[in-house]
Amino acid sequence: MSLTTRSVPVAAAMTVCPDCGLILRSPRLRPHLVAVCPRCAQALRRYRHNPVQKGLALSLTGLLLYLPANLLPLMTFSVLGIESRGSIVQACGHMFASGQSFIGLIVALTTLVFPLAILSGLLLITLGLSRQRKAAWMPALFRSYHHLTEWAMTDVFLVGVLITIIKMSHMAAVTLNPGFFCLVGLVVTTVAAQTVIDPPLFWSRMEEQEPQPSPLQTPADGTEPQPADLLACHGCHKLLPADYPQQSGRHRCPRCGHTLHPRKPNSINRTWALLATAAILTLPANLLPIMEVDYFGVPDRSTIMDGIIYFFQEGSYGIGLVIFVASVLVPLFKIVGLVIILLSIRYRWQSWLRHKAIMFRAIEFIGRWSMLDIFVITLLCSLAQFGFLSTISAAPAALYFTGVVLSTMFAALSFDPRLLWDAAAATETRQ
Ligand SMILES: [Zn+2]
Ligand SMILES: [Zn+2]
Repeated sequence: MSLTTRSVPVAAAMTVCPDCGLILRSPRLRPHLVAVCPRCAQALRRYRHNPVQKGLALSLTGLLLYLPANLLPLMTFSVLGIESRGSIVQACGHMFASGQSFIGLIVALTTLVFPLAILSGLLLITLGLSRQRKAAWMPALFRSYHHLTEWAMTDVFLVGVLITIIKMSHMAAVTLNPGFFCLVGLVVTTVAAQTVIDPPLFWSRMEEQEPQPSPLQTPADGTEPQPADLLACHGCHKLLPADYPQQSGRHRCPRCGHTLHPRKPNSINRTWALLATAAILTLPANLLPIMEVDYFGVPDRSTIMDGIIYFFQEGSYGIGLVIFVASVLVPLFKIVGLVIILLSIRYRWQSWLRHKAIMFRAIEFIGRWSMLDIFVITLLCSLAQFGFLSTISAAPAALYFTGVVLSTMFAALSFDPRLLWDAAAATETRQ
């Protein structure tokens, strides 16, 4: 750990935990070590070797695989000589063509648009950093990259492809096509590219390229600034003085341009509203049929639970369990977990604070995995079309279920976990 001296600007030697707001001295990183917040156990920073070059190589490889992974057919299903195959782009197009435009749009954004955006963004940023180029667009692009990482879901989609293969292998012969292998490569490179980079290092390099006057200096008496005197940017986690001056009428971070707030505005009310929306949508999502299978012209509609029971009856316990966890337990855990956190702020419950912080991070992490069922339905609707033999289409609950996933994800995004620690600190001060 490095100590702050009077001659060094505090901003360079201090850091903030984004999850609990604790002000810490910047850790000195060593290979294989992770800096962890002592209060909420959030991993603050990991040692990365050559993050710029590795990020550049992996994002470029990912971009090369992007088009074949999305345009080439993923797999072929054949039943009694009738073959059905398709690519990711065709699967999205099929949802639009069959009147499920909203689901088609969400699938297209999460599997086509956002993955392309994060790979291109990462390529431009690492290219700029490796050439020591000074570009005003880099901080804004890196901030957007962070916002989009949660919404780029090729990894979830790949698990959806695997579930579709297992589901279809009961009734059709399945052949894997080149698109499938390119998709595996795309997922591996995208996840690796996001893992090898070192965001705090990238931010500091961008700042070096475009030097900002450091507004935060050690007070003349040698004491360290107190949390109340500081403001952390939500976008890049830069520490600034609480009275940081407004520029052209707006309170913005000098490094990344994000609007500055001590805490996310209206966080509690927005989270409650989104949770209420999710809870209401959960009812039709689970009670109405989510998929319609037409065998020889006889329609058979099934709910989420029917689909899970089907896998258990067929003996595919593993897949049945994965769908049960992703479609039933995860949305329920997200809603109940966030309600417990909001109530503990409302009633200032001080116990299990660290556990609640860890639970919130789990809610944030698993949020996107609930899209699994929607991806499986999209793939089945477009790839399992066998003419007069059988066709599959999405039923009304698919739309409501997508609404549940989106509203719980937005609820987790609206919530500011530092409020949990603020409420506990306020209670302690009062006592
Ligand atoms: Zn913390
Ligand atoms: Zn910032």
